[in-house]
Amino acid sequence: QISARVISSPPVRSLSAAADATAANPIRATLFPGDGIGPEIAESVKQVFNAADVPIEWEEHFVGTEVDPRTQSYLTWESLESVRRNGVGLKGPMATPIGKGHRSLNLTLRKELGLYANVRPCYSLPGYKTRYDDVDLVTIRENTEGEYSGLEHQVVRGVVESLKIITRHASLRVAEYAFHYAKSHGRQRVSAIHKANIMRMSDGLFLKCCREVAEKYPEIKYEEVIIDNCCMMLVKNPTLFDVLVMPNLYGDIISDLCAGLIGGLGLTPSCNIGEGGIALAEAVHGSAPDIAGKNLANPTALLLSSVTMLRHLELHDKADRIQDAILNTISEGKYRTGDLGGKSTTTEFTKAVIDHL
Ligand code: NAD
Repeated sequence: QISARVISSPPVRSLSAAADATAANPIRATLFPGDGIGPEIAESVKQVFNAADVPIEWEEHFVGTEVDPRTQSYLTWESLESVRRNGVGLKGPMATPIGKGHRSLNLTLRKELGLYANVRPCYSLPGYKTRYDDVDLVTIRENTEGEYSGLEHQVVRGVVESLKIITRHASLRVAEYAFHYAKSHGRQRVSAIHKANIMRMSDGLFLKCCREVAEKYPEIKYEEVIIDNCCMMLVKNPTLFDVLVMPNLYGDIISDLCAGLIGGLGLTPSCNIGEGGIALAEAVHGSAPDIAGKNLANPTALLLSSVTMLRHLELHDKADRIQDAILNTISEGKYRTGDLGGKSTTTEFTKAVIDHL
């Protein structure tokens, strides 16, 4: 069995309420079913939580139908308030139109809720064979700036400028989180991934901040790897890595590469960590419009994300039970969704997980 440590995010604050939670006195958590396959896989999580008697009461929020002036996006102010109030939530994927339209829903969530670190564990699933059997790494992505600043403009016709923002504040914050994560999860090494040979000032500042934090953690080995070399090393031998910390865009790309090492986007969870202890878990994948509404989606990534949420709440018994049921179902091989080469629908796979609880 995979040890629980690989998919938990360290609790940023102690949630004493969680210890006393019961069915009669549940914890409130925000749920965004999201777009595309989101509602189907969110339904899967709700069913599994019900079957496992998880003492969570969902506060469900849907993407609005018009732009809310207070958020400048289709996300309603009330939904953001719900996450702020509850401090914990789960979100399905949200589609972003390419090159036009409203402010990205995901960017709105990250900026408005100060979700500064996105933790993406990636490990080989027992019994599901890929080229590698022993992948076990964690990507920690800076989540608020870099190329995602949203600052773009046309300089003159035919020339567009897009600003990459790196600040000392955000770099120190995510580096601190990465080292704290490594230490509290018994990890040995943190690799800072960069392109400072070309982006000397921006990635240079990111590295400087990582070095500063590394000095405070002498027990954790620290190294720096240029992003292109990192991609080659990951594909050749992913066991070379442990915890990876990097600016926003690199994290987006590297974590999808890592998902490919263990069987695809249907399997990889994540958790967004914000100031003040907010945790908003979500799958790494998007809304998968090609399979939406067809009962074909693999709910594993969102289910494992919900497990990270339970660990954040320190509901480890429930988290272990659900995680084991998911991994055992996949390992047994009788019920797998199409992305893993199986024939099961989302609902059949969900039922199999419930039967394994
Ligand atoms: P995607 O992750 O939605 O899909 C990529 C491929 O993986 C597709 O073939 C899809 O069918 C498959 N896939 C993804 N999740 C799966 C699952 N659970 N089970 C089985 N197969 C799965 O990426 P995309 O097509 O590039 O993006 C679609 C939309 O999602 C875009 O609007 C994008 O902006 C958005 N998106 C949102 C998030 C998020 O909400 N965090 C993340 C990434 C992309």
